[in-house]
Amino acid sequence: MRGRPLGEADRILTLFTRERGKLDAVAKGVRRTRSHFAGRLEFGNECDFVMHRGRSLDVVVSAETLRAPWAQLVEPERYAVASAVAELIDAFCEPDWALLDVYGLLVGAIAAVAAADNPQALLPRFELRLLAMLGLAPPLETCVQCGSPLGAGATWLDAAAGGLLDDRCRERWRDLPELSADDVANLRALAAPKEGGEPAAVRATPRAAAAVEELVAHHLGRRPKALAALGVFGA
Ligand SMILES: [Zn+2]
Repeated sequence: MRGRPLGEADRILTLFTRERGKLDAVAKGVRRTRSHFAGRLEFGNECDFVMHRGRSLDVVVSAETLRAPWAQLVEPERYAVASAVAELIDAFCEPDWALLDVYGLLVGAIAAVAAADNPQALLPRFELRLLAMLGLAPPLETCVQCGSPLGAGATWLDAAAGGLLDDRCRERWRDLPELSADDVANLRALAAPKEGGEPAAVRATPRAAAAVEELVAHHLGRRPKALAALGVFGA
């Protein structure tokens, strides 16, 4: 969840829910000091909500906190990465579109960021998994243009085409980012669904991480704003 003020005392919350996906709801009186919601509606919290349908927006009746990682998320780098996670899910998911696997990905990502020493390292895998759940994942075994299996040689990222080009399909006049076979193997490991309960401890190579950012920016139509705070990109 995250929120923005509404009038004197209320807040509009953007929630990502198990049952209905993304939705906006009003929490009334939440900005008064004696609100019974105090502390429960922080950014990143996972809550059990009771709501009723309002004329335009749903209204939060009660909120039971399940997880409250806020104390760990105030650290600037964690906050920037958690904000990027929220921003990407907000940008890619339509309201009232239930996506259970994205819900699980979000909960897992926020918990991992809250506990991470190097939270930025978690982003490439999160982003590839999100693209996969939305049907936007780049094919990593074949050339996006001709469909031939990618060999052991270098490949080139064509973010606009949503994947990788082999040597045959690469147009030399285009200045495309080059990826080694190791970078491509790294992307495959990052994109692999998690096995069992343990999160995969895969670190992105610099070029694989840059390739993921390019793909996300292409599908999003812009750079995520929250990442500018990290100095990863020139805003
Ligand atoms: Zn090709």
